[in-house]
Amino acid sequence: MKDVHIHFLHGDPIGYTMDFFEGFIKVAQETGLDEIYLLEHTHQFTEFEKVYEPVQSYNEFQYNWVTKRMTESIADYTRFIKTVKKTDYPVKVKFGLEVCYIPKTADILSEILGNYKFDFLTGSVHWIDGWGFDHPRQKETWESKNVEEVYKRYYEIMFQLCESGLFSGLAHPDSIKCFGHKPNMDLTEYYNKLAMLLNKHGMYAENSGGLRLNYSPELELGLNPQLLSVLEKNKVQIETASDAHKQSDVGANIRELERMIKHR
Ligand SMILES: [Zn+2]
Ligand SMILES: [Zn+2]
Repeated sequence: MKDVHIHFLHGDPIGYTMDFFEGFIKVAQETGLDEIYLLEHTHQFTEFEKVYEPVQSYNEFQYNWVTKRMTESIADYTRFIKTVKKTDYPVKVKFGLEVCYIPKTADILSEILGNYKFDFLTGSVHWIDGWGFDHPRQKETWESKNVEEVYKRYYEIMFQLCESGLFSGLAHPDSIKCFGHKPNMDLTEYYNKLAMLLNKHGMYAENSGGLRLNYSPELELGLNPQLLSVLEKNKVQIETASDAHKQSDVGANIRELERMIKHR
């Protein structure tokens, strides 16, 4: 079993140390995982500041949210990865980034990513034309939106993300349901197009337990059944992902997420 989405968070609380890193290995072994993908979010690194311009200029809350988190240089992370890679561990480990894809700044993003080589890059949509649709403190903004339009835009941005050719995987597709808004429309053609683009660019899609883990235990686990079935029908590579933000959550929900995938 794999967990392809585990946040490192600068080694919070003790920093990038071997002890902290080995903690992930230990929990992974206890949970029965063969492979883990560790990642940092691009919004943690000052090198990506320009990418977040549309997000920071959207409102004061988002400006402060990004500023508070964008505290370190990516150089500390890449240096740490080099050190860790000198040792073999009983669990396979990949190191990468969860990258916010923002169409307006995609060219800048591509340029920055060109400076680094990671084992994987998972692209995520957290911002729709500047608005952090999945932020609990921005939830009220949904009330002023047309849900169908938001869904359409979410998918369009994911299509562009895939077409950019920058990514190995797509993080938590279907995160748009985070606050329970459902569109009054059939999304089949969007699901089909997403499947086609994922295959075209050799990308995997996450079957992510992130919403269940980090938002509400009431939320549907992983991909919605229709999207999952379209991805499976099109033989899209699907990987299980906890979206753990702390070590004790490594491998959370993975067995159940794995069981959902029929074509294994
Ligand atoms: Zn994410
Ligand atoms: Zn994440």
